[in-house]
Amino acid sequence: MIGQPKWRWFGDTSISHRFHIMLGVLVIAGVVVIGSALLAMHRQVGASADLARVAAVQRGLDETRVLREQLEQRLLGASAGTSAENASDLIDARGLARALRTRVASIARMPKSSEVATAIDNVRVPANQYLASVDSLLQQDGHGGAWRFAEFEPRRVAFETATTDAMVRMRSILQRVETRVLQQESQSWRITTGVIVGGAAVGVLMWLMLWRGARSIQKSIRAVSDVAQSLAAGDMDNRCELHGAAEVNSLARMVNLLADTMQGMLTRLRSEAGRSTFSNQLVEALEMADSETEADRVIARAMGAISDVHPMELLLADSSRAHLERACVHPKTGSPNCSVESPYSCIAVRRGHAQIFPDAEALNACPKLLGRMGGSLSAACVPVNFMGRALGVLHVTGAKGKPPNPEQIAQLTALGVHAGTRIGTLRAFERSQLQASTDSLTGLANRRAAEEILNNLLAVDSTFSFVMADLDFFKRLNDTLGHEAGDRALKLFSDTARGVVRDRDHVVRWGGEEFALLLPGANAERAAEVVERLRAALAQSLLLSGGPTFTASFGISDSTMARDRETLVRLADEALYRSKQGGRDKYHVGDPQLPGIAGQRDRDQGAIVDIAQIAKSAS
Ligand code: GH3
Ligand code: MG
Ligand code: MG
Repeated sequence: MIGQPKWRWFGDTSISHRFHIMLGVLVIAGVVVIGSALLAMHRQVGASADLARVAAVQRGLDETRVLREQLEQRLLGASAGTSAENASDLIDARGLARALRTRVASIARMPKSSEVATAIDNVRVPANQYLASVDSLLQQDGHGGAWRFAEFEPRRVAFETATTDAMVRMRSILQRVETRVLQQESQSWRITTGVIVGGAAVGVLMWLMLWRGARSIQKSIRAVSDVAQSLAAGDMDNRCELHGAAEVNSLARMVNLLADTMQGMLTRLRSEAGRSTFSNQLVEALEMADSETEADRVIARAMGAISDVHPMELLLADSSRAHLERACVHPKTGSPNCSVESPYSCIAVRRGHAQIFPDAEALNACPKLLGRMGGSLSAACVPVNFMGRALGVLHVTGAKGKPPNPEQIAQLTALGVHAGTRIGTLRAFERSQLQASTDSLTGLANRRAAEEILNNLLAVDSTFSFVMADLDFFKRLNDTLGHEAGDRALKLFSDTARGVVRDRDHVVRWGGEEFALLLPGANAERAAEVVERLRAALAQSLLLSGGPTFTASFGISDSTMARDRETLVRLADEALYRSKQGGRDKYHVGDPQLPGIAGQRDRDQGAIVDIAQIAKSAS
């Protein structure tokens, strides 16, 4: 697995959401920074405007004071000078009075704060009263009276005092405003510094976020790519961790899904390859088994390869197919001892496919599993067939709830198939071999088998005899009583011959109505005794059977006369010929000294046939 980061900025947020978050942070930071800058600027501008306004009012008040003082000098001049001077001062005084009125009115109109307005209001009333007094003084002129300053003086003093007070107040206001402007300026500087630092911090934060975001995406894509690479290299256990952006997680999920699918396929392929290897080896081993015993040995070894904990056995039907016999058992764990007796008592054989019983005590379990040694168990039974016919069953047991696993069941099934094929083939081959070497009418070995036996006897250095027998006038018996009667005669002769020889002796049908006896350990003399016994027994059998009477002629050779098959057969054949020539129903012993009989073998020539006797027997 790819390592998981300890701390993650964005978790599994999608890439587009990450960019939206970063954009949001940028916009908020921008609004805060620009807003702060604008606010600082606004405050700075407001404070400067306040300062300008207060300064303008103060300047206006100062001008008022100057105008008033000039006006009063002219008034004094007008009241005390010559007539010409009076007239000039009077004109000036009137002009100054107008200017003063205008100035006072302009101060009243100036934009100002409430504090400044209060200070100005305190000036306006005395100013108006003062100007009214000035108007009153100026109106006296021309009427020839003295100037009445007594009324004017208190108003002048009031106006002057109000103006002075207002100016004092304005100075104090101006100082405060100046202080505020200075404070605002330093605050603006701080804000400007803050804006610069904040902007830089936002920039750094944005860079950090972008770097982290890009790095996280890069890392998670690299992690997915590493997993994909390891999968391509054949390591199917690696999987992607889902800790990247949603889009990368979705890619990682797909890679994991692909890995799961590939792993499943690989496991299946491996298991199939393992099964195939097992099957191939099993087939090869069974091919090398030439007999059923050897095949059983291979099957037992295969059982050991399938499991070393489950007892196993192969139960095979005998030739009658009525009984099951234990052919082989597991070499280590031994036999599970199934009590099934015949193939069709086995449920697996009846159903034709493997049966698995996880619990022998379950209601639907095979009843033959109950009461076994070792208590409750599990079992699996695999039928063994050949060409659709039941040959037997492979029986396996295990602990309760632990039957062979699916892989083992697959191997057992393969074992059942291949064992069935091999054993069936061996049995069929054995049967065909037997058929090829057996005469179907009499059940005796045929000439080919007899030659084989002769070869075997000649191969070991021991005495044996070879006796040729030929039924006399058999053609006529056939012709007279029919082929079936001839067959019965042949069968009677073969049964009689088998009855007089020992178990180790061989009676074979040499061909047609000719037979041969192979008598290991017997020389020609002993063979002659056997022939005599056979002739007597034949007569007895014929008497008992009530069938047509017939006789046989014999020729004897033994291993002391020759050590090759052809000569032995020839010597016996020539002796037989002499028996025929000598009147039949007798034997002759071969003589290697006699010249060979070449040419015709018409033993029928000159035969004496007792037709009357044959006809009588047939009736
Ligand atoms: P000989 O005494 O000289 O041997 O005379 P033979 O008639 O026995 O000899 P031959 O060779 O002339 O005739 C043999 C006969 O045996 C011919 C054939 O019809 C008969 N034969 C051969 N095989 C069988 C068989 O399987 N069943 C029957 N029923 N007859 C057979
Ligand atoms: Mg013959
Ligand atoms: Mg004959």
